[in-house]
Amino acid sequence: MSGHLTTVAGVAVDTRHWIGGQRVASAAAFTDHSPIDGSVLGEIARGTAAEADAAVAAATAAFPAWAATPRAERARLLHAIADGVERRLEDLAAVETADNGALLRSHRRGVMPRVAHNFRFFADWLLTLDHEDFDTRGHTNHVSRDPAGPCVLITPWNAPLMLATWKIAPALAAGNTVVLKPAEWTPLTASLLADIAAEAGLPAGVLNVVQGLGSEIGDALTSHPDVRRISFTGSVPTAKHIAASAAPQLTPLSLELGGKSPLLVFADADLDLAATLAVEQYDNAGQVCLAATRLLVEESVAEEFTRRFVEKAAQLTQGDPREEATDLGPNIHPRQLEKIDGFVRRAIAAGARAVVGGTRLEGQYYAPTLLTDVAQDSEIVQEEVFGPVLTLQTFRDEAGAVQLANDTRFGLAATLATGSRERAERVTGQLVAGTVWVNCFFVRDLRAPFGGSRHSGVGREGGTWSFDFYCDVKNTVSAPKGWNGHG
Ligand code: NAD
Repeated sequence: MSGHLTTVAGVAVDTRHWIGGQRVASAAAFTDHSPIDGSVLGEIARGTAAEADAAVAAATAAFPAWAATPRAERARLLHAIADGVERRLEDLAAVETADNGALLRSHRRGVMPRVAHNFRFFADWLLTLDHEDFDTRGHTNHVSRDPAGPCVLITPWNAPLMLATWKIAPALAAGNTVVLKPAEWTPLTASLLADIAAEAGLPAGVLNVVQGLGSEIGDALTSHPDVRRISFTGSVPTAKHIAASAAPQLTPLSLELGGKSPLLVFADADLDLAATLAVEQYDNAGQVCLAATRLLVEESVAEEFTRRFVEKAAQLTQGDPREEATDLGPNIHPRQLEKIDGFVRRAIAAGARAVVGGTRLEGQYYAPTLLTDVAQDSEIVQEEVFGPVLTLQTFRDEAGAVQLANDTRFGLAATLATGSRERAERVTGQLVAGTVWVNCFFVRDLRAPFGGSRHSGVGREGGTWSFDFYCDVKNTVSAPKGWNGHG
């Protein structure tokens, strides 16, 4: 660490904010630790309302020129950012792994390519986004999408740069300017992205990055009268706080929140596939909003399914996320580990049985865990753990499966394992979920809508849904007889 630069995995990262095309320091700092070994990665600028206001002012000043920039030029700049992401892919992957503890191989091969794809996809989508025209008694309705203004984007730590760019790319493509507030447990790759955007030639003030602790900087952002959109990914309590803060200004919100998604395994399923899908739910050490953490298995195959699950779970390698062979890295923070362990201890005290795991390991690791003998109304079934903890319950028939699946306050995703297309269609129609996967998991296409129902979120992003959120949608009705009405 020297001055405002820290070196992480051999990569120099600026620890200051990025506001109006300049690095801006704060009087105070917070310490960023690596979940791999607890080491200090940097002292990060601890922003307050002053930095939030400065960033919104920069975004507001930059908005008119960016909104007026031709679509093709906006798209070109987004592709240039994607080029920069690809050029620095190894740096981004290494720094993200040091900061959030997720697998280096996933960052290299899946996550960082997806970050670049986020920019390319929304750049291309912008160019193909058609205005819609239709007639009303000879009058023409012309539907267009105007840039909305400065957007505040607030993101979590479990997939930092992927989730940030999934919002930044469409917001910028739509002609908006952005203030990004990354999570305080993973502030680093957002700072590298600011460098990449500047190198790509993005004008000053179009993308701003502020660092800080939750509401200490967040409240000034979410209550700001000049902010035209807020997109938030994170937990339900924070979402409620943000919604209340935005309410007096009626700022439109997109909320992507937590889940307690089910994996329904029917007796007609390929049980080996079902067990493989179930074990995949430990990915990213269970820190995935979409994870199907409730395994709901038809009674007649529960024993065989469990046998196969236990066998596959035993093959997982837990350890340093930089090692190629590792399947499960550490959990993000000692506080998160306490939380995970608290859930498991209370579940066991209430009568649950740990068929797999159930214990905290050395360092910031938690053993992949499967709990059975859990009651539907218990905390472990109803609340999001956000760690490598799954529960298993059984059902007798399809109606019972749907009833259990829908019986939480969440509705983010659901996964079905079944050999029957008719059953898949029938059950899918009854599930409350933003995404349903049938005999697969985590296949994502950016053209598709993404979001959750109930407490899993408000609104949908992805493809045209993103542009609908980040734009002011306008309908222009023209008279039939020429444009002055007398033709
Ligand atoms: P969190 O709500 O604690 O924090 C998310 C972000 O909000 C952080 O940047 C934090 O600094 C900021 N924040 C906190 N208080 C704030 C305030 N008062 N004003 C403004 N910003 C504030 O969530 P987390 O623990 O970082 O993330 C985990 C949660 O995110 C889980 O519930 C997970 O399911 C959810 N998640 C959802 C999705 C999705 O797409 N639906 C994706 C990933 C994670």
